[in-house]
Amino acid sequence: MASFDDHPVLRDQRELHLSGTARQAHRWRPYAYAVGLVAVTTLVGLPLRSFIDPTNLVMLYLLAVVLAALRLGRNPAVLVSLLGVLAFDLVFVPPYNTFAVADAQFVLTFIALLGVGVLISTLTAQAREQTRAAQERTTQTRTLYELSRDLSMVLDPADAARTVMAHIERVFCGNATVLLAIGKSLEPIPHSSGFDLDEHEGHTAAWVYDNGQPAGVGMEMCSAAKGIYLPLNSTQGVVGVLGFQPVLPVLNTSEGSEAAVPADQAVPLTPEQLRLLEAFASLTAQALTRIELAREARQAQLLRESEKLQSALLSSISHDLRTPLASITGALSSLRDDAAYLDETARTLLVNTAWEQAIRLDEFVGNLLDITRLEAGVRKVQPELCDVQDLVGVALERLGERLEGRELVLDVPDSLPPVPLDLPLMAQALINVLDNALKYSPVDRPITIKAEATDAGLRLTVADKGPGIPEGDATRIFDKFYRVSRSAEVTGTGLGLPIGKGIVEAHGGRIWAANQKGGGAAFTILLPAKDSSTSPVAEGIP
Ligand code: ADP
Repeated sequence: MASFDDHPVLRDQRELHLSGTARQAHRWRPYAYAVGLVAVTTLVGLPLRSFIDPTNLVMLYLLAVVLAALRLGRNPAVLVSLLGVLAFDLVFVPPYNTFAVADAQFVLTFIALLGVGVLISTLTAQAREQTRAAQERTTQTRTLYELSRDLSMVLDPADAARTVMAHIERVFCGNATVLLAIGKSLEPIPHSSGFDLDEHEGHTAAWVYDNGQPAGVGMEMCSAAKGIYLPLNSTQGVVGVLGFQPVLPVLNTSEGSEAAVPADQAVPLTPEQLRLLEAFASLTAQALTRIELAREARQAQLLRESEKLQSALLSSISHDLRTPLASITGALSSLRDDAAYLDETARTLLVNTAWEQAIRLDEFVGNLLDITRLEAGVRKVQPELCDVQDLVGVALERLGERLEGRELVLDVPDSLPPVPLDLPLMAQALINVLDNALKYSPVDRPITIKAEATDAGLRLTVADKGPGIPEGDATRIFDKFYRVSRSAEVTGTGLGLPIGKGIVEAHGGRIWAANQKGGGAAFTILLPAKDSSTSPVAEGIP
């Protein structure tokens, strides 16, 4: 906790906490210093009395007045002026040791000393007060800025409450608590053990919550409480209550021992401090409102997304499951019912159609299963060091017949270092990207697979000479069930790329799509190298 004297807010609070004998002693101390100051000034001037003119010696008293005004305040400085006039008359104006004045012109000196003393002390006291007020304003602005900065970063109501409690306890001398409105009741956030939230304090807080008015010690309502309770008023009503209980400071008494301030005499906060505490409450209420609105927006977004997902899933299932099923059923029913009328070629054609559609169905269900397993964390990545040639080889082998008649340009150097990856899974990701290149680019155009080692790891690019990705869709094509509208004539599920993305990201890598300058799409997979300290995610990738 900050020391009292370093902090204007704490210092003021200590002054307010002074009470009883301690307050009396504190109040009279400057006057005692004032008397001492006059005595010291007189003692300093005494040896000079015989060879310095008294009207010049009066300057010593003026100096004492200025000192008193600067250090002790206005009234002690006025006392120094008055006592200074008397001491000057007694000690320095002939005849000495009597208040009689031999020369009447000294009366003017007395009046000037008194007048200048009062003027200086008034001006100095005003300057002191202005400095104090400016200092206080600066401190208040800084503390409010610090609180609003810290509150702007929190995303949870309990964190906001903890932040404001920490700030209050740092700025004021006391303990704070926040009670948040949950449903219709008030729930306290765990606070420092110093805050005494007993039944009576709880009732006061509840009253503040119900009435939206401040209450507690030093206030009109519930003044018997130990703390001050302020409502956290937001545009949506009272969202909670901020409580503050001053800690009664231990004072050093004149005897050098320590004495606690009696609780009944403690004044909790000055009006300025109360205003600061209210500003704290208002910032907290704003932060809580912001957090609540952000939560509602997130929920609405989630709801929208899940609705979108549901409708995409429905349309995908209705199309991608029903179309092949209809084809299979049609082919099988022809084979069963019309077998007598079908020649060998027609039968083969029907069987092939049913076979192709069954494979398509199998792929779709397989894709759905893959993505579900990946998302549910059932299928975990088990990386092993693999050669990139092996990865590409496995993917091409599994694509098998689909590559027939297609020109493939392979740029996969032997010198590439092995990369830690889960071969079957990563091969699936590469297959999905390659399958798209085969589906979406003309059969007579080449597909390039390029692998290179970079600082960030292995960079694998699959480029084709197809229509490319429409502007604005480069990120969306990685969303589940998202298909570019012009691809409607090509069969697909909108799941290939999200599965690939899931696999690559599970390896700590990144995948993205871009259009090539000469036309066509390029899909890049970046995988972290063995012992790579830089994650590809952190590399400035689009
Ligand atoms: P789909 O089953 O539709 O191919 P994907 O998730 O694999 O699903 O791809 C999503 C969409 O991205 C595709 O519908 C297609 O419009 C677009 N796309 C993917 N790869 C390419 C590519 N190489 N060239 C052009 N468009 C592509």
